[in-house]
Amino acid sequence: MSYKKLFSTIILSSVFAVGNIVFADSTNSVIDCGKGNSTANLNIYYINDTHGELVNLGKLITELNKIKKSVNPETTLISTQGDMYIGRNHKRNAAMTKLLNIAGVELFTLGNHEFDDGSHQLSKELAKGKFVTLMTNMDIPDGNPLNTLKNQNKLFSSYVMTKNGEKYGFIGAAPIGVNLGLFDKDNQVSVYDPNGTSAALNAEVKKLEEQGVNKIILVSHLGYFGDGGDLEIAKNTEGIDVILGGHTHLEIDGIQTKDVDKTHLTNLVLSKKGEPVVIVQTCGMAKDIGNLKVTFNTNGVIITDSKKNTISNNHIRIDKNSPTDKTIQRIVEKALGVDKVVAVAKTPFVSSGTTEERNLENPTANLLCDAAFEAAKGKNPDVVLVHSPTVRGGLVGEITTYQVKYSMLPFNGQMFYAELTEKDFVDLLNTEALTSMTTDNSQMIQVHGMKYVVDKTVKNPQNPDTICVKDIVFVDKNNNVVRKINSNNPSEKDTVKCVVAGYLFLDKRTKLILQNAKNVQLVGKEQDIVLKYLKKHKSIDAVREGRVTVIEK
Ligand SMILES: [Zn+2]
Repeated sequence: MSYKKLFSTIILSSVFAVGNIVFADSTNSVIDCGKGNSTANLNIYYINDTHGELVNLGKLITELNKIKKSVNPETTLISTQGDMYIGRNHKRNAAMTKLLNIAGVELFTLGNHEFDDGSHQLSKELAKGKFVTLMTNMDIPDGNPLNTLKNQNKLFSSYVMTKNGEKYGFIGAAPIGVNLGLFDKDNQVSVYDPNGTSAALNAEVKKLEEQGVNKIILVSHLGYFGDGGDLEIAKNTEGIDVILGGHTHLEIDGIQTKDVDKTHLTNLVLSKKGEPVVIVQTCGMAKDIGNLKVTFNTNGVIITDSKKNTISNNHIRIDKNSPTDKTIQRIVEKALGVDKVVAVAKTPFVSSGTTEERNLENPTANLLCDAAFEAAKGKNPDVVLVHSPTVRGGLVGEITTYQVKYSMLPFNGQMFYAELTEKDFVDLLNTEALTSMTTDNSQMIQVHGMKYVVDKTVKNPQNPDTICVKDIVFVDKNNNVVRKINSNNPSEKDTVKCVVAGYLFLDKRTKLILQNAKNVQLVGKEQDIVLKYLKKHKSIDAVREGRVTVIEK
């Protein structure tokens, strides 16, 4: 037994002692554990946030298909909880659909990355899926292609499935506060706010209960934390028994009625009417599959009785040596091409994968900035500006085409040459630096050809007029300062020649600034630009070199 396994087992048993006290009183009126064979068992396998990681997912599915041979198919459920697709690579997303079908996935919900390629492409993919998509907290305008899925019996606000003679009701939720479907223009979907989401979920549960369905599962990409997150939804709704979650990339292992440490979060709470609700999630990137086993009583309430072993939650993991089924391997290679080493990171950068990392200078983003500067050399740019979330992961040892295309730059956005006034240039840096202080969706600007300071000690970061960027200097290749810009009084006449990530022309915060850009010209696509750079330079140093300095509060 691994340390981690042992630890979660200890937690499991100690928590149940607490769990029985907490849950017995409040649920006795509805829980009736002892009535013969009237309970219903469900064996759930759940996956979230694979972010298009086909290689890992192929190994996971190979393992899952092996496990499935020894479990009762009548009581088995396989669910995915959003951000399964990523970016705009059709081949890759189509291969994802194939793998989900091979895995026997039955349920799907819409995460934020499902919309990376627009609702039209998403609808085409989901139509090929042998699963149903659940969406309960989203307004889909009439002209949006997702509506066609409703006619094809692929998209539902709630869905009832019978397993082993028992009816189960399913609802789904998309993340709140994320701008979904930038490419959908007039037909963009909108997700309800936290109150609207609770109300919509409650209303859909009521409908299911009226049909006699009392075992209800929310397939969620709401994320665990915050207003309208899974934990809050569990406590503020009535009738949901299980929340299969995603979006936060948290491995919620075991069953805990209290936070034990950062990796063992509370995941068994009471609903508004005092019935237990269990919340689960995997860490994402197809590194693990969760396995939740629950037992429902005749009233459709989950039984949280450790002695009778009615509930358990474990994760199945794979590593790089785990085998892949041959059929799956062929699908993956056909979609992704052959993997090749293109360069080496002489000085490595190990990414922590946390959101905080996006609020600092990021050596992986430096690579994209350096490569874009070289690609635009003919236009003689001063600087390169890239928003943090466009790059993913670290740079360690051999860098391969798969890493560049499918891990580092999954969105493969376009890079543009654009001329901005000093004022708009400062406004762009400042707007995105302010988001790093006020939201979880930080897009702090990563750079080449310059240095700047983000001062988080400023007052009123919520006010868009607050200036938090300073000491902006342009540097040449020997790091000598060649120009200074006063962030408190930038010129409205002087021009800055930039290479800018295309996404910033679309994002609602930054497009208003960039609509003033002059002489906009395409430089190329992120993956091509970086692969060309790496093939030429062969080795890189992935280090922080003081391009962005952050003064913390
Ligand atoms: Zn997400």
